[in-house]
Amino acid sequence: MRKKIGIIGGGFSGTMTAVQIIKNATSPCDIYIVSEKEELNKGIAYNPYSNKHILNVITGKMSAFPDKPDDFLEYAIQKEENKRIDKALVSNSFLSRKLYGEYLCHKWKEALEEARAKNIAVIEINDTLTKLDKTARGITLNFHHTPNFDVDFCVIATGNQIPKNPAIKNTAFYSSTNYFQNPWKLDSVNNIESDKPVLIVGNGLTMVDTIIGLKEQNYKGEIYSISPNGFNILPHRHSGMKYTAHLDEISEDTSLYSLFQIIHKHIKIVREFGISAEPIIDALRPMSQKIWRNLSIDERKIFMARLRHLFGVARHRIPLHIYDKIQKWRIEGNLHIKSGKIIDIIEENNRIRVEFFDKKMNKNQTIEVSRVINCTGPETNFSKLEDHFLSQCLQSGILAQDELKLGIKTNVDTYQVIDANQKEHNNLFTLGSNLKGELWETTAVNELRQQAYELAKYISQDAFGQISTPEVEKIVK
Ligand SMILES: Cc1cc2nc3c(=O)[nH]c(=O)nc-3n(C[C@H](O)[C@H](O)[C@H](O)COP(=O)(O)OP(=O)(O)OC[C@H]3O[C@@H](n4cnc5c(N)ncnc54)[C@H](O)[C@@H]3O)c2cc1C
Repeated sequence: MRKKIGIIGGGFSGTMTAVQIIKNATSPCDIYIVSEKEELNKGIAYNPYSNKHILNVITGKMSAFPDKPDDFLEYAIQKEENKRIDKALVSNSFLSRKLYGEYLCHKWKEALEEARAKNIAVIEINDTLTKLDKTARGITLNFHHTPNFDVDFCVIATGNQIPKNPAIKNTAFYSSTNYFQNPWKLDSVNNIESDKPVLIVGNGLTMVDTIIGLKEQNYKGEIYSISPNGFNILPHRHSGMKYTAHLDEISEDTSLYSLFQIIHKHIKIVREFGISAEPIIDALRPMSQKIWRNLSIDERKIFMARLRHLFGVARHRIPLHIYDKIQKWRIEGNLHIKSGKIIDIIEENNRIRVEFFDKKMNKNQTIEVSRVINCTGPETNFSKLEDHFLSQCLQSGILAQDELKLGIKTNVDTYQVIDANQKEHNNLFTLGSNLKGELWETTAVNELRQQAYELAKYISQDAFGQISTPEVEKIVK
């Protein structure tokens, strides 16, 4: 019988899972791909409101396919603007996220042609999934507008949720039109009529995108960024440098404490030679998922409370030319990066007053701003998501969260979701950032392309009996 496969999420993960299933398929089937507001294929990351929002990974490492490492590079060098540029330069540069979105759409079109040739029906649904139920037939999907239907297999590829509201004394401000909970939308940076400062909560990569967006909108006022640690974002330095001396001392079951000591020792060594910590952290990537999986819950909690930010700063870096701009705006006094905690935000008589604890000054400070943009990173505690099918699935016990509430409990060898009774579903799967609790590092293309490849293979074997793509080297888990 013709199988029905539902994919909830049409960003990179959902798109590439569908593409890989189409490649694998040896008999006809129906694939339903569901995406909410963002354009299908691009998701949040590759549907930016500005051409100046660029990838944080070089072209040569952004292929959507684990078995075709140069696929994005080949696409990029055929573009008119890149045709006359040295291939090695394009390969090592950071291109626009818009171009990457176009690339994914292009791959999708190719996959649709292959689907037609194989008599596979691909049904694109632009709607919100509101409820997911297990039935004797399979899984029932309910939507806001689309009539519900059943599928035999379902993949939850919901990616990044919008950030949660920071905890403050009076939460009334969060219903203000001057508060922007979703930093990935153009309205967060446009139509600013006043030159009063803007407050960005958080100081990671989304803060950088938001500053670029504000400048592009000709905003001339001051920008404040407040985050608990106020770390400086780092540029990509020591490009191409590999440092692996510490790996001999680390195994998958090294404790967090020993790991910290070893890394600290090697940071001291490289500093003597004018090198900073990033190559040391980068070298951990092939084993970081295994290390995470071997940490105890207490160690994971310590990591989250004390080391996550340091690790994130070393890992999530920006291209040098963007870093230079950020530094220039800081030096000119346009950008103030504060470490501290927001205490309250009050809006009265067209004035927004933000009270925060300034760690450096060790006292409370007040600033007046014209708007507040939340760049604190995706919410991962699904019970806090309002009217969302993930919180409904949590309540019904269809899925459970890991102890740290970072993602969905999953068997990461098969991508099968584990229910509240610790039982694996045979037809409900997930990948991408929903695996954060299981794998920690599971958000970049480099991880997601491999997961989509493996998951599609797993589903296809069940759905079609045999498949038509070769094995690729297994991702380290
Ligand atoms: C701003 C930004 C920039 C990034 N840049 C890079 C980069 O340069 N390089 C890199 O490797 N990684 C980057 N990343 C990491 C990024 O997470 C992945 O590369 C990838 O885009 C994640 O795709 P995804 O499909 O898992 O999630 P998303 O892109 O978040 O897609 C999730 C999909 O689920 C859908 N959805 C969610 N809930 C529902 C529902 N209830 N009903 C229906 N549909 C639903 C959404 O509509 C969306 O289509 C970036 C991330 C962000 C946020």
